[in-house]
Amino acid sequence: MRLVILGATGSIGQSALEVWQEHQDRIAIEGLVAHRSGERLWQMGQTMHAPWIALTDPEAATQLQKVHHGETGPRILGGQDALMATLESVPMTHVLAAMSGFSGLVPTLAVLRRGVTVLLANKETLVAAGDLVLATAEKSGARIVPVDSEHSAIFQCLSLNQPYRRIILTCSGGPFRGFTREDLREVNVEAALKHPNWSMGPKITIDSATLMNKGLEVIEAHYLFGADYDAIDVVIHPQSVVHSMVEFVDGATLAQCGWPDMRVPIAVALWWPDRLKLSIPAFSWDTLALTFEPVDHGTFALLDVAKAAGRQGGLYPAVLNAANEVAVAAFLDRRIKFLEIQSIIEEILMRFRGVNRIDDVEEILEVDRWARREATQILA
Ligand code: NDP
Ligand code: MG
Repeated sequence: MRLVILGATGSIGQSALEVWQEHQDRIAIEGLVAHRSGERLWQMGQTMHAPWIALTDPEAATQLQKVHHGETGPRILGGQDALMATLESVPMTHVLAAMSGFSGLVPTLAVLRRGVTVLLANKETLVAAGDLVLATAEKSGARIVPVDSEHSAIFQCLSLNQPYRRIILTCSGGPFRGFTREDLREVNVEAALKHPNWSMGPKITIDSATLMNKGLEVIEAHYLFGADYDAIDVVIHPQSVVHSMVEFVDGATLAQCGWPDMRVPIAVALWWPDRLKLSIPAFSWDTLALTFEPVDHGTFALLDVAKAAGRQGGLYPAVLNAANEVAVAAFLDRRIKFLEIQSIIEEILMRFRGVNRIDDVEEILEVDRWARREATQILA
């Protein structure tokens, strides 16, 4: 397997590095990509014997080239154009798409066009451009394998293609489970970044606090499994041990369980249907108490806002995603309050009157820019 990792310096990238460390003989790293974490990327490139590394921020790349001039190590590429030319030409069989947010769309489409297998962590790509991504994969015969833990669970449960009634996505509830709307009014960034079970990048951690993450995952499940929105339910499961479930037509339910550790879904995606050893501690069923409860839809309204945008289809999910990315960044910058994330997204979805037709990626890029402009205007 010849693997390229997009978003190598992030939280998923770190888990991928740990999987690679256990199975170096099976994975040749072909390239590593990040935005501007140059030094970290250089070190990973050395460790993983990558022939090249790429920073999408050209200035960060120039800086890194200066610092490591004359040293032996990976070739350093800088900027989006160099990255795209490389992704379109160098040999590879698999890409782990783990960039954060919408930035993953264009590179992911480029490798899908080549028929490369995409291990997809970057859910925003599928949310913003589900139809286009699927059509691109279908045309080239490329496979898309989920890495998001819930979708990996469903993928495993559905491996025999048996008819099901519904998919049940589990949701930890995030750091604010049990809070009222009133309680949410004054929550700060530090509190929102304290996820009870998972250690992840900042954007997805905030999405987990608003439950937008689960909304994005509903849309992701719709595209990945061709599931009708009425056949996708969400249940709160605070321990994050049951990663998701499928209820089949005969009433039997399959669940996939384990410690919350992204090395598992990454390894599943890399080698499915094989399973390779991983140094994950044994599971302690005898001391675990698993609980489930309903979602508080009134307090965490973004789940339903996302689901509605998914049902509207067309470009609505792209608008939802862009508005969310801008609002979350503003919250992380302490420019807005937690509950304003929701009001900004709702306002932009209301303003959207776009054509509900997706011809090509330009259409999606255009609507993404529009939604970001509107959101930035509201913030100003
Ligand atoms: P992080 O924020 O930890 O890492 C993001 C990575 O993407 C970094 O390598 C970053 O580079 C890179 N990146 C950011 N912006 C750009 C850009 N414009 N161009 C190129 N590269 C960029 O995120 P996570 O690892 O947490 O998440 C990555 C994706 O995986 C997200 O889509 C998330 O929803 C999904 N996911 C994550 C899970 C997790 O457990 N973390 C679970 C399920 C899904 P740099 O360091 O240089 O900024
Ligand atoms: Mg998930």
